[in-house]
Amino acid sequence: MLSCVIYAAHNLRVEQRETPQIGAREVLVRLKAGGICGSDLHYFNHGGVGDFKLREPMVLGHEVAGIVVEIGAEVARVKVGDHVAVDPSRPCQNCSDCLAGHSNLCSKMRFFGSAALFPHVQGGFSEFFKVADFQCHVVPNNIPFEVVACAEPLAVCLHAVARSGSLLGAKVLITGSGPIGALTVAAARWAGAAEITITDVVDQPLEISRAMGATRTVNTARTPDALEEFKANRGAFDVSFEASGNAAALETCIHSTRPGGRLIQIGMLPPGLTSAPINRIIAKEIDFLGTFRFHHEFRWAVECLVSGRIDVKPILSAQFALQDAVKALELAGDRSRAMKVSLTLE
Ligand SMILES: [Zn+2]
Ligand SMILES: [Zn+2]
Repeated sequence: MLSCVIYAAHNLRVEQRETPQIGAREVLVRLKAGGICGSDLHYFNHGGVGDFKLREPMVLGHEVAGIVVEIGAEVARVKVGDHVAVDPSRPCQNCSDCLAGHSNLCSKMRFFGSAALFPHVQGGFSEFFKVADFQCHVVPNNIPFEVVACAEPLAVCLHAVARSGSLLGAKVLITGSGPIGALTVAAARWAGAAEITITDVVDQPLEISRAMGATRTVNTARTPDALEEFKANRGAFDVSFEASGNAAALETCIHSTRPGGRLIQIGMLPPGLTSAPINRIIAKEIDFLGTFRFHHEFRWAVECLVSGRIDVKPILSAQFALQDAVKALELAGDRSRAMKVSLTLE
């Protein structure tokens, strides 16, 4: 079978690999569409993401949807031919974090296409991949696979919004208008936010966020002073989501969040220490919250996509055959031309 394997920074090969054998509670899925994520781009450009470094070749990809082609003897949840959204999380289901309902924090988590553990967990940009039955969510046959594959990044954003508490009537700031920022716009709107301001340093992604429901867009490269009015009087936003992983954007969020407001860090900052005006967090009593992946929000994401309550089409930029993965990753890295690029198989 064809697989898209990252060996090191800028060394990606589409090569033949052995088709996996499934166990009794496992399912073999044939890939139909896989979204390229910022973390895939980090592995491609830098050979790692955040604190996770590549130590062996790894199949990329964790935003995947496909068709069930084989099921293990004890699988009842899906049948051959089902179209499925695939939750890339396979927590151990046995540790204190899993048992406390925070399976996204499981230290033994086997997450598709991630170098967090060694040996690395191979990803889903492969003609076939195997998953546990509980990772499969059946979807109707008439929904495009590249839409279904957005369940994963949407789940990240729904988890971030769940972490933020009530957004009903809230004035929201989102820094970073990549796919996660743009989907956080949609998630915040769904959760009742009254106003959503989003920032970026490139115009094209801001236009996409406007289509996703942002009420104000700010290009902080072209108009660096545009947020000054929101920083005045100790900040104007009830809730800020930092979705860029950039320390300067975190600083913007700290200054723009009102006293008693909440700040949710979604973007992975560069490895090591990050400097930020922490005393402002203290003096304004800002609740500063981390958010990492998702758990039951994956099901919410699938339901939002199936019902059409959240329309992800504005973020879908282009599709490439799996064989053309290098071209696809190059385009996905050009933010003025693309937001979510998908790999597909006939
Ligand atoms: Zn992702
Ligand atoms: Zn666990």
